[in-house]
Amino acid sequence: MTGSPTKRSVTNVRPVILAAFAACLALAVPAHVQAQEAPAKPEAATEAKKPNIVIIGTGGTIAGAGASTVNTGDYDSAKVAVDKIIAGVPEMKSVANIRGEQIFQIGSESYNDERMLKLAKRVSELLKQPDVDAVMITHGTDTIEETSYLLNLTLKSDKPVVVIGAMRPGTALSADGPLNLYNAAVVAASPESKGKGVLVVMNDEIHSARDVAKTNALKVETFKSLYGPLGVVVESKPYYYRLPARPHTTATEFDIDTIDALPKVDVFYAHTSMDPGILTAIADRGGKALIYAGTGNGSVADYMEEPLKEVRKKEIVVRATRTGSGQVVRNGEEKDDENDWIVTADQTPQKARLLVSLALTKTQDTKEIEKILYKY
Ligand code: ASP
Repeated sequence: MTGSPTKRSVTNVRPVILAAFAACLALAVPAHVQAQEAPAKPEAATEAKKPNIVIIGTGGTIAGAGASTVNTGDYDSAKVAVDKIIAGVPEMKSVANIRGEQIFQIGSESYNDERMLKLAKRVSELLKQPDVDAVMITHGTDTIEETSYLLNLTLKSDKPVVVIGAMRPGTALSADGPLNLYNAAVVAASPESKGKGVLVVMNDEIHSARDVAKTNALKVETFKSLYGPLGVVVESKPYYYRLPARPHTTATEFDIDTIDALPKVDVFYAHTSMDPGILTAIADRGGKALIYAGTGNGSVADYMEEPLKEVRKKEIVVRATRTGSGQVVRNGEEKDDENDWIVTADQTPQKARLLVSLALTKTQDTKEIEKILYKY
């Protein structure tokens, strides 16, 4: 987000608000009650049993700062270091031994394949360490669904990996980052979270990276999974109600340790009155596949059929839907067999881009790529 940089302060107001709140409580609550409710100091033995979690900081709104507490949508993202974010949620100390590691300080709109691979490789390294029980990643919300999907498809570990962000900067009234972070630590520390693939924890819900999507530009409840979240976090406890049905992490054919670059795959977004020249120009940019995010069921406008056939002469064509959900039916309204076009099954164009790119590291055969799209 933009705004006058001179107005900005990275001071986290939460400790100040908490201190004021605590002072009010101290006045209102009798001393014996306060003493009773003070959290017990964890003993050394309990400390040792707590899981070790590394939190990788990458930026985003969870690391953002606004000029005032009422700036919830006008702020600078990627300003606060991960160690400072961790220090702002000391409650996490009761669930895990936490250490932070800063890998980027960017808005997630700025991710590219190189950055995603760098992050994924670092997560993979950490997961191999015997003294690391889980990894959390603080991430901008714009592309959390893409990065977490890539991790879900390529990490070779059962250890919990939890990605979180925030819709409001830490300086805002009702900032959602601190609770998201705490809930994510609770999820990452839970043995129940092992083997469930990469998880995205936002707004008290636990989502599978496969299904989660940002569905609203501003709302705190923006993250939705088409088939429902896997579970919820209530009062410091994760409750799972579903399991991911599609293969992930250790059960996929993709291993981040063996992938050093991703084949270029582009997305073209359909609308009324398209310029066919833009479509064909994309095919001259050296891509290996094009995701055509068609209207409705991945439909191709009559005046775009010939240009799309031209594209197919240079790269693989994959039909997706711009609607955000639903399967694209092969040979439904379009002649996929005749044109050797393939369909994305149910994945969104941006997630299909990653899956097709991974598939291209294994095969160039359109039938095989389509099988991969249906499988994951
Ligand atoms: N543009 C920000 C980002 O994705 C938005 C956010 O984190 O909520 O980094």
